[in-house]
Amino acid sequence: MFKGAAVLAVSCGVLSGCGGAEQMSENEEIVANLVEAGFPADDIMVVDGAVYTGRDAHVTLEASREMLQSEAGPEQYRTTNTVGTAVTRICINPTSTFNSYTRLSQGLDAAIANYNQRGLRITFQRGGSGCTATITAQTMSGTGGSAGFPSGGRPYGTINIGTGLNTYSVDVNEHVITHELGHAVGFRHSDYYNRAISCGSGGSEGTAGVGAVLIPGTPSTATVGGSIMNSCFRSTETGEWTSSDITALNYLY
Ligand SMILES: [Zn+2]
Repeated sequence: MFKGAAVLAVSCGVLSGCGGAEQMSENEEIVANLVEAGFPADDIMVVDGAVYTGRDAHVTLEASREMLQSEAGPEQYRTTNTVGTAVTRICINPTSTFNSYTRLSQGLDAAIANYNQRGLRITFQRGGSGCTATITAQTMSGTGGSAGFPSGGRPYGTINIGTGLNTYSVDVNEHVITHELGHAVGFRHSDYYNRAISCGSGGSEGTAGVGAVLIPGTPSTATVGGSIMNSCFRSTETGEWTSSDITALNYLY
């Protein structure tokens, strides 16, 4: 999913195994919660559609979630490079093909609003001119998205959004586009160190040549649904920031 340090692409599709529209099953979430809560993977079994630890302890979804409640909560990580102070307003220019997908187009408006509602030192606008940086919004196949990370004090110049997302809610499109814009301004995946937390499977993305710096004020562990920057999303996403997302945004920008 990473194509190199300078032109780094964070792929988030189902086929590429990043933050795609993989909907976690209930059991996948239970297993992910147990792993995060510290249960050894080989101590977790799925038998006849139910999840067990220690061979005989059935774990419900609710119970698995409660195991995480004493934890600090979701975390945020950034790349070493972020968007510099010379950039104040970022024009997002969707292609005509992008605009032809109604829910992608509506999702873009909502994602832009997400950022602009936060009172940050960077703002976004759809199209137009007079911006100090631009990002092209274009389509890709599948139900995920991809982007890259900042360099030279500028945001990454392209986000790719899967046309398959047009069959999902506007909220999911808002989530994915907000997520990809997050990469473009320097956010790593909140569960970069263990993609299984949001995806149900997968390992660590490592530093990927761009760094993974914990943002002060945010805890260091991720939870399902705990951040718009989790690697994988659910079909139930609301598209809205979480509290730790806001903490991270306010710190960076
Ligand atoms: Zn991502």
